[in-house]
Amino acid sequence: MLADSYGRVATDLRVSLTDRCNLRCSYCMPPEGLDWLPAPTQLTDDELIRLLDIAVRRLGITEIRFTGGEPLLRRGLVDIVARTAALEPRPEISLTTNGIGLTRLAAPLRRAGLDRINVSLDTLDQQTFVALAKRDRLADVLAGLAAAAASHLAPVKVNAVLMRGVNDHEAVGLLRFCLDHGYEMRFIEQMPLDAQHGWRRSDMVTADEILAALSATFALKADDPDQRGSAPAESFLVDGGPAKVGVIGSVTRPFCGACDRVRLTSDGQVRNCLFARQESDLRTPLRAGADDDELVRRWQRAVASKLPGHGINDPGFLQPARPMSAIGG
Ligand code: SAM
Ligand code: SF4
Repeated sequence: MLADSYGRVATDLRVSLTDRCNLRCSYCMPPEGLDWLPAPTQLTDDELIRLLDIAVRRLGITEIRFTGGEPLLRRGLVDIVARTAALEPRPEISLTTNGIGLTRLAAPLRRAGLDRINVSLDTLDQQTFVALAKRDRLADVLAGLAAAAASHLAPVKVNAVLMRGVNDHEAVGLLRFCLDHGYEMRFIEQMPLDAQHGWRRSDMVTADEILAALSATFALKADDPDQRGSAPAESFLVDGGPAKVGVIGSVTRPFCGACDRVRLTSDGQVRNCLFARQESDLRTPLRAGADDDELVRRWQRAVASKLPGHGINDPGFLQPARPMSAIGG
C-alpha cells in the first residue's frame, strides 16, 4: 500500500510521459516554450513498464492516467498502453490530452486498452484559441474530440480552465457544446503551476463564479455528494440530468483530505502532490540495478511524507520548482 501519515492511501497514479508539448497554453508555459528535459533522463518504455508493474502488483495502484506535457507526442504510446493493459491486476487506464493527433490515435489507443479520455478545450473561438495556446489548432482539437467519441472512449470528458478577460465569457457556450455532443464538461480553477510564475489570485475565475455563470442559463443540482469519494470534481446535474457538469475548485474548495493520487514524472521522480517541493528519485536506483523490494520501499517512503494539503492559501506558499508540464497535470 501507498499510505501517508494522515491516513490517505494512494491508488491513482498519474504518469507524465513527456514534458514536451505542441501548444503553449498561457496558464502552463511561456510562448517560447521551455528547455525540455534531456533525453537520457527520460524513462525508457521498459523502465516505465517495470515501475508500473511494481505499482499495480505491489503498491495497490488501481488506476493509471497518462499525461504530460502532451502524452500523444510520446513515441510508442500505443504500445505503452497495451503493455499497461497486460499488467496484473489490470489497472483502469486513462489519458489527459490536448487532443491534437487523436484523429490518428484514438482508435489504436482504444484497441490497446485505453478506457477513458479527458481532452482539454478552453475555447470554441479560433482567435481566442490562438491567443491562449499560441498555435492555430482549434480545428485539430475538435476533430480529435470527435474521433475519441467515435472510438467509444466514453464518456469523453472535456477540461477547461477559465481566465479572466480571456475566455471567462465562454462557460455557458462550452457547456452547451458538450451537452450537444454528449461530452462531460469540467471546469478547473487555474492553479499556480505555470512555468513563468504568472498566476494571480485576482485573475483566477473561482468555482463560485463559474457556478454563478452557468446557473444563469442552466438549472444545476448538486449530484449526490456521497458519490464524490476522492474525485476532485464537484458534480452537478444539468437541467435535471442525466447530463452532468463538474467544477474542480482546487484553490477555493481544496480536496486534499480525500486525495488518493501520486505522480511519476517522465524522468522517474515520484511526487506525492502536484505542489510538492520535494521528489523522490526512482530512476537512479532503477538504473543501478535495484530490486523490486528496494523500489517499493523508496516509493512507500515518498508517499508517507505527503503533507496534509497543498498550502496555496497559506501566506508562505511557494510554487514548486517544476512547472505543470513537467509534473504531469
Ligand atoms: N497536454 C495535456 C492537456 O493539456 O490536456 C495534458 C497535460 S496538461 C498539464 C493537463 C491538464 O492540466 C489540462 O487540462 C490543463 O488545462 C491543466 N492545466 C495546466 N496548467 C494548469 C494550471 N495552471 N491550472 C489549472 N489547470 C492547469
Ligand atoms: Fe501543453 Fe497541456 Fe500545458 Fe497546454 S496545458 S501547454 S496542452 S501541456
